[in-house]
Amino acid sequence: MNTAAPPPPGNVNLCVTMRCNLRCHMCACPEVRLKEPEIDRWLGFIDRLGAWLPKGHRVLLTGGEPMVHKHIDDFVSRLAAQGFAVTMATNGSLLTAERVARLEKAGLSHFNISLDGLAETNDSVRNGPGLFQGVLDIIHYITHRTGIEVRVVAVISDASAADMPELVRLLSEKRKIARIHFQSVIPTMARPWSYDFFERDALWPRDPSRVGRVQSVLGELAAMKDEGYPINNPASQFGLWRR
Ligand code: SF4
Repeated sequence: MNTAAPPPPGNVNLCVTMRCNLRCHMCACPEVRLKEPEIDRWLGFIDRLGAWLPKGHRVLLTGGEPMVHKHIDDFVSRLAAQGFAVTMATNGSLLTAERVARLEKAGLSHFNISLDGLAETNDSVRNGPGLFQGVLDIIHYITHRTGIEVRVVAVISDASAADMPELVRLLSEKRKIARIHFQSVIPTMARPWSYDFFERDALWPRDPSRVGRVQSVLGELAAMKDEGYPINNPASQFGLWRR
């Protein structure tokens, strides 16, 4: 029997809740009803994690929407006290100057904030009128008034693809984001896995003319990456997605 300790994981994501204040078209997280552990159990778990993993290891707080958890500041402060570099993945809609200040004081170092296109597309896909402008405003605040780094995470879909080059320009010109990272449409983890999800997913491009448009946007994003725009994905990834 192999009794060696398992190697430490490269990525640690803590899903603190499946609850969310939004109802995005591509996500079923808010439908999931989970019994959430008490905060003391979470804090004990974080202490054990701290005893196992090296200082500086990156931990991502995710969900659902982590900001709906009433103890979210406690998660951040305990993780920071254990020496972790703490990132929060968030839709950004519940961030205010006051809540950001508390999170910074607790030790948060990065936000990953979701934007899935320009105003009309984002607010339609994410089911939140006015969401885009509110998120842009708080990104501007965070990047100009705090030491927390912001990355934007954007899903390329049939609905959002055409907006993406302009979104990159907008974010890199005025708001000093660290990076923008693109994801493709994937099946939500809150529903049973199915290989043919893309046959039914409204955000997956199927019409041949629209597939061509998405492929052309992917080429444009790869070229923008070469020009020095702060796109996180390697240019080769856009090439793979175009196939
Ligand atoms: S994608 Fe994120 S913001 Fe949208 S419903 Fe799911 S958890 Fe909430």
